[in-house]
Amino acid sequence: MTATVKIGQQLYLSCSALDDMIQALRGLGFTVVGPRVVDGVISWQTLETAADLPRGVSDQQSAGSYRLVDGEPELMFQFVVGPDGPKRYFFPASLRLFEFHVSQQNFVLDAGPPQVPKLAMLGVRACELAAIAVQDRVFGIDDPTTFRCESEPYYSQTRQESLLIAVNCTRPSGTCFCAAWGTGPAATHGFDLALTELRDGFLVQVGSKRGCLLLEKLPVREPTQAEIELAEIKLERARERMGRALDVRGLKELLDQSIEYPEWDEIAHRCLSCGNCTMVCPTCFCCSVSDTTDLGAGSQQVSRTRQWESCFTHQFTYTVSGPERNTIRGRYRHWLRHKLGTWWEQFGSSGCVGCGRCITWCPVGIDLTEEVRRLRERSQAPGSRGPTLRPGEVDHGPVSR
Ligand code: SF4
Ligand code: SF4
Repeated sequence: MTATVKIGQQLYLSCSALDDMIQALRGLGFTVVGPRVVDGVISWQTLETAADLPRGVSDQQSAGSYRLVDGEPELMFQFVVGPDGPKRYFFPASLRLFEFHVSQQNFVLDAGPPQVPKLAMLGVRACELAAIAVQDRVFGIDDPTTFRCESEPYYSQTRQESLLIAVNCTRPSGTCFCAAWGTGPAATHGFDLALTELRDGFLVQVGSKRGCLLLEKLPVREPTQAEIELAEIKLERARERMGRALDVRGLKELLDQSIEYPEWDEIAHRCLSCGNCTMVCPTCFCCSVSDTTDLGAGSQQVSRTRQWESCFTHQFTYTVSGPERNTIRGRYRHWLRHKLGTWWEQFGSSGCVGCGRCITWCPVGIDLTEEVRRLRERSQAPGSRGPTLRPGEVDHGPVSR
């Protein structure tokens, strides 16, 4: 137990007290979720004790490659983001919207969406906090101007119930570039608590009243000046060691100008249109709704399910005249322009937070930072053309690259 804790205060929590934190959260009725090793990757799962955390595990990431490797045995957070993260809990990949059955002449409702969970997320990285803030805007949390068809009650309620405990990144991966966007490696806002892992414990920064109340239940102490300085040094070194770099200046103009560049054709020859990049991206929000009708004797169950969808699928823009983006060139170009350019017009922010997942999990190693660099290079070449959208151009035509 400690004296009153204030927002903005920094305290020290020992490694052994991390389990006290998890148990305190469970005692408060939270389901604690965070990183665990599952099938050779860091995956977000339920944590029952601190022993569930991937202690002594590190990761190696590069374009199209991900490996877990041995790290320093005593550290619990020396990896960065894996293929999934908090998004899967707020915006599940598959969510039952309702289920009913037919009884005589009537439809009888059996179930609606699942009950909203009360989640404490432990180990949220700074780029993921930034992505959550992006999805908050997309789904219109607390924004009365959001259209009803865009607002998302399950997302909003789960988010409002959730408690976020961030972990600052002291060792970025080979595909991270959060420093380019200013979204990491240290969390600056949007958390209840933010931890920086030192060797025997954590420097904890308090970000909310709920964070204060939680820390008041735990055996924390004032940090020493050396501990504060060590945390600052670790974060500064992480900032300098980003695996990737992205020049974010004038991106929208660059992408508008580059619409006819040959680089898109070259990307289309490599891209498989598999949609992995959209499935792992923490800001992608597209989904579709499908109905399942069981006409089997006696059952007559009907259910409606919402599932993640990808702008890389053929059916994504399907209309009576066929798919609007019929080429891989058009689909990749749309994806990149939306993430880095048109997202600003739609939501007032970038759709990319620099987590690097789309680079790591692209099976052919397409690297957004490299593609932007090549587009920029062409735009600066002598004789480069300005905006060149052909009048009325859409990507209609035979399915092709
Ligand atoms: S860029 Fe890579 S991950 Fe994305 S659709 Fe193309 S091949 Fe798949
Ligand atoms: S576009 Fe790629 S790097 Fe940017 S947030 Fe999405 S997955 Fe991460």
